[in-house]
Amino acid sequence: MTHMSLQERDKKHLWHPLTQHKLHPETIAITKAKGCVLTDENGNNYIDAIASWYTCMYGHCNDYITSRVSTQMQQLDQVVFSGFTHEPAIKLSEALIKILPNNQNKIFFSDNGSTSVDVGIKMALQYHFNNGEKHNTLIAFEDGFHGDTFGAMSVSGLSVYNGPFEDYFLDVKRIPTPNGENHEAILKALQDIIANNKVAGFVYEPLVQGASAMKMHDASGLNSILQFCKENNVITVADEVMTGFGKTGKHFASFYMETKPDIMCLSKALTGGLLPMALTTCSQDIYDVFYSDDISKGLFHGHTYSANPLACTAALASIELLRSEDIQNNINAITASHQVFGNHIKNHPKVKSIRQMGIIFALDLNVEMQRYGNLRDKLFKFFMENGVFLRPLGNTIYIQAPYVITKEQLQKVYQVIEDALEIL
Ligand SMILES: *Cc1c(COP(=O)(O)O)cnc(C)c1O
Repeated sequence: MTHMSLQERDKKHLWHPLTQHKLHPETIAITKAKGCVLTDENGNNYIDAIASWYTCMYGHCNDYITSRVSTQMQQLDQVVFSGFTHEPAIKLSEALIKILPNNQNKIFFSDNGSTSVDVGIKMALQYHFNNGEKHNTLIAFEDGFHGDTFGAMSVSGLSVYNGPFEDYFLDVKRIPTPNGENHEAILKALQDIIANNKVAGFVYEPLVQGASAMKMHDASGLNSILQFCKENNVITVADEVMTGFGKTGKHFASFYMETKPDIMCLSKALTGGLLPMALTTCSQDIYDVFYSDDISKGLFHGHTYSANPLACTAALASIELLRSEDIQNNINAITASHQVFGNHIKNHPKVKSIRQMGIIFALDLNVEMQRYGNLRDKLFKFFMENGVFLRPLGNTIYIQAPYVITKEQLQKVYQVIEDALEIL
């Protein structure tokens, strides 16, 4: 077998996520990652300009995080989290409460972003159920993405992923994202929805819709939606799986709105990309409705690896890094650098528009492209051949690089994007 490349051996047994293997048989075997650089089995280096789906924000194999986790590994690896507790989970909860919006007070563990959304949905549904009411309708934004489990798929609006399963979805009504002009129309739509349905909750990605190609919306419009939900007993569930932990320029996107969510979903950058973990946090008011002498009013949801001590340790180290002066300075520097690049590139004839929030930068190309079409593949290949890992979504190219990316690396990312405009 040694004569075969990893790329060849992969084809025998592996089935990759979000992949039509007949059309895309080739995978790239990565053998090493350090800082912002991925290395493949042939020794090629790639700048990871999307931080491996926005997880490794402090750089790959970050020494501070890995050394903390390797110390923890000698002490306590895994234990059941029903009926047991441990210091890494407790310390993590204390660190999180310091940076979350101050209405958040309880933290529930799971192990991926989709599940954290499912837990949020279950909390919202059971909140009403425990109060003796059956509320079965959810509200969500058009074109949102919340993950691939059934609850998360139901509230997502990107149908490319969901076609075969739609008949089994939860009842979801959709509203457009606020754009600064459709404010009245959205509130009217919300009024109609709550007049005609028993609404349990509103699930939303605050300010930036990640998988929907970093589509951005208006904070004051979102704030009035949240306000309306509060006034009408609709539980608000902020999916900050993508926006959380500094990406938008604040620790959480929810800080841009005056009205805070009842429930928050977190994952992706939580552990700095080292280990899979997710959280659903909630206010004391939500928790109190589950706190009862009646056992059936509890939240009967749990995963084997809930609050894994190693993942908790990675998350704790990541939060310490996030709060450090170095990382905060880097976030400001990347934000400023994107602004300069944006101003430079926005009038290029192949560029339709640009948008930015914090370290999230997106550019729409002035060409029609399918989400997974040939032109998209051509762009991806061009980027990789030039040593930069970017993953265009339809006609959008976006950057969400680790906070530790160097000036030179960032300039290379910009240059490759600019050069790519010439091959279109
Ligand atoms: C990635 C993502 C999810 C799903 O997280 P997984 O860990 O991939 O299950 C949910 N919501 C948002 C906003 C995401 O970006």
